[in-house]
Amino acid sequence: MLLKEADLLKQLIRIPSVNPAFASDGPAGEAQLTDFLQGLLDELGVRWLRQTVDPGRDNLVAVLPGSKPEVMLWEVHQDTVGVEGMQIDPFGGEEREGRIWGRGACDVKGGMAAMLTALARKIAEKQKQEPTILLALTVNEECGFSGASALSRLWSKNEEEPIDPKSIAGPLEPEELLRLRPQKAIVAEPTRLDVVVAHRGVVRWQCHTHGRAAHSSQPGQGHNAIYAMSDVVQAIEDYHQQLHQREPHPRCGRPTVCVSTIRGGSGANTVPEHAVIDIDHRLIPGETSDEAYKQLVAYVSEQVQREGIKVVHDQSWMNSLGLGDENNQDWAKQIASVVHGIDLPSQLIGVPYGTDAPAIMAPDIPTVVFGPGSIDQAHTDDEWLATDQLTSATEVFYRLACGKFR
Ligand SMILES: [Zn+2]
Repeated sequence: MLLKEADLLKQLIRIPSVNPAFASDGPAGEAQLTDFLQGLLDELGVRWLRQTVDPGRDNLVAVLPGSKPEVMLWEVHQDTVGVEGMQIDPFGGEEREGRIWGRGACDVKGGMAAMLTALARKIAEKQKQEPTILLALTVNEECGFSGASALSRLWSKNEEEPIDPKSIAGPLEPEELLRLRPQKAIVAEPTRLDVVVAHRGVVRWQCHTHGRAAHSSQPGQGHNAIYAMSDVVQAIEDYHQQLHQREPHPRCGRPTVCVSTIRGGSGANTVPEHAVIDIDHRLIPGETSDEAYKQLVAYVSEQVQREGIKVVHDQSWMNSLGLGDENNQDWAKQIASVVHGIDLPSQLIGVPYGTDAPAIMAPDIPTVVFGPGSIDQAHTDDEWLATDQLTSATEVFYRLACGKFR
């Protein structure tokens, strides 16, 4: 069966797969898309396996055997961000002006369409040579990277986190998959066909101030949690300025911290007894989220001391390491040379945003981020992907699948 990448992308956009964390009213979850993809793999004659990550949320992993023992992993997430405030039909999948429009067009159903179309072409041409391809269509990238983390546990030797055999099932035998440890990996994201070798990590948590309520006509009777929170916010801004003095990472710049939401108080005539903020702390490769969290918490507790006030930091709810470029440059150069082979530019770059790649990267699994379209169009109210980017990416994935590195 031959696929056309543009037609496939339109189909993928028309199947909503909004991450439940961003689904305010419309459809939520990846399940409908997972079922479609499973059907497509069946039509292509590719064996697959489903790995349940959360109830109703499954990774789908497929294998296309090659002639060499080398295993190349292609990973792409199924979920998208929400659709509130979009200026176009989010699930229209319309093509005009050389672009395909809709939620997920660029992040990252374009990359998914390119990978699937390339595989379909390799199958149709009965190209048996070269690497075994593992295609992993994962859940929950946009809010916690838990699909990719679950995927990587399939090959990890970490016995503290054993795989629940009931969580994996399909025509592909789990034992066969566990033997197919990848030697290199590509994570699809919109990189404009540049190859991302490094990016920052992130840790997020909430911080509370607790004081004592009183009638607002007698503020001295209470302890004002909002005043205390303003001290906390100021301390975090100071900390950010200090981070700005650090030596920058050559590809990723400096770590940053941002207070991104604030709420507090219960009414206009009450001294507030509680306030809460969200903290978003971006890390450079090599920093651990645990260390970064502890350092900032210690700084705040040093700076903020008010009578009658308790400052409480929740445990972090999101932790993702940065992607370091220590062992992936050779692999990245190979991919860039394939892009050069179709007369397009491609560079090795670092980016500020996070991806699934650190969850997959291991000392023996060089991992890079690569795909069609620009991150500038990701998550926007008129998301689109240029069709020429899609076609070029499909050709690159096809050449990689056939081991054509020049
Ligand atoms: Zn993405």
